Amino acid sequence: MNYNIVVLDGDGIGPEICAGAIKVLDAVGKKFGHTFNYTHKLIGGCAIDACGKPLPEDTVEACLASDSVLLGAVGGYKWDNMPVDIRPEKGLLGIRKAMGLYSNIRPAKLWKSLAKASPLKYELVKDGVEIIIVRELTGGIYFGERGKGSTLDGGDFAWDTEKYSVKEIERITKIACELALKRSKKIISVDKANVLESSRLWRKTVHEFAAKNYPEITVEDMLVDNTAMQIVKNPAQFDVVVTSNLFGDILSDEAAQVTGSIGMLASSSLGDSKCGLYEPIHGSAPDIAGKDIANPIATILAAAMMLRDSFGLSAEYAAIENAVQSVLDSGVRTGDIMEEGMKKVGCSEMAKLIAEQI
Ligand code: NAD
Repeated sequence: MNYNIVVLDGDGIGPEICAGAIKVLDAVGKKFGHTFNYTHKLIGGCAIDACGKPLPEDTVEACLASDSVLLGAVGGYKWDNMPVDIRPEKGLLGIRKAMGLYSNIRPAKLWKSLAKASPLKYELVKDGVEIIIVRELTGGIYFGERGKGSTLDGGDFAWDTEKYSVKEIERITKIACELALKRSKKIISVDKANVLESSRLWRKTVHEFAAKNYPEITVEDMLVDNTAMQIVKNPAQFDVVVTSNLFGDILSDEAAQVTGSIGMLASSSLGDSKCGLYEPIHGSAPDIAGKDIANPIATILAAAMMLRDSFGLSAEYAAIENAVQSVLDSGVRTGDIMEEGMKKVGCSEMAKLIAEQI
């Protein structure tokens, strides 16, 4: 099969880590008989430098016409003091909006061979952990009505609104159920239904939608405060977690910390179509850019997610995961995950070793 991928290298370490992911994708293509065509487009700081805005029209057009998009990272010291509406991050928000992406999927995976990097006790994580947080991305309190005034109790006040429709909840539940079908067939839906009306609708809708459309999926509920505790108490109990924008924002950062290695974590954003945006969760790491020392694994795993979730290539996804596992098991590490007695390699060497394992 032929797949057209837009690569948004971005800034800082973006080009290095994307080059690593391409190396691995090419190895997958060779082994499984696929052709991946890459079109590189500008986003973020490099786009501001080239054409004065973080998201040029031809980038948007190319992304919309592609089978999927791989993004490195945007931002850096050079653009830190730009006016708010032409900052590099505006490019990210813009492309998510243009592509109609309303879900963010962040697997926080702690590989067995990196268990010691976790800030949690070794016994809690020694068998590895994978918490996949499916976060609603375009609704809830971040996008609800808000305001401020100066008449409450004689002083200033401000308010925000958490609002969800059945349609918004159903479509994010569908994404979580589709993912769970390929895994444990269980989702944990996180809310605050003991207090919030919007959470009560969330809970009812998740159950009704899953029961009607995905009878093979088991749905459990967990209150958000309890979830925050359980992630550090017993992270291995989780698989797919579905939740609102606000709760997902907080819990996905907490879960990422459990793994202890930001250079290993990928994420995807999906909407109604199969065309998604795949990226590492870390930023452009300007402090190490251009030195060939960044860890490319998060971006390589983002490319693997693209194969599975946008192209339906599960065996190819597994091939990449297994290759990463073998390379880690062989004792090779980039600087950020370095441990005593291991062999330290750079970004391009790490990608080459993973590609060779495919
Ligand atoms: P960062 O994630 O770029 O870096 C945090 C720390 O982790 C740094 O010490 C960095 O060297 C290290 N690090 C990150 N990725 C690594 C990798 N793959 N291998 C090895 N080490 C790695 O976060 P920051 O320093 O807060 O932000 C830097 C820039 O990135 C800022 O301009 C910020 O706005 C931007 N940013 C972009 C995104 C994105 O594009 N999605 C996300 C977060 C931050």
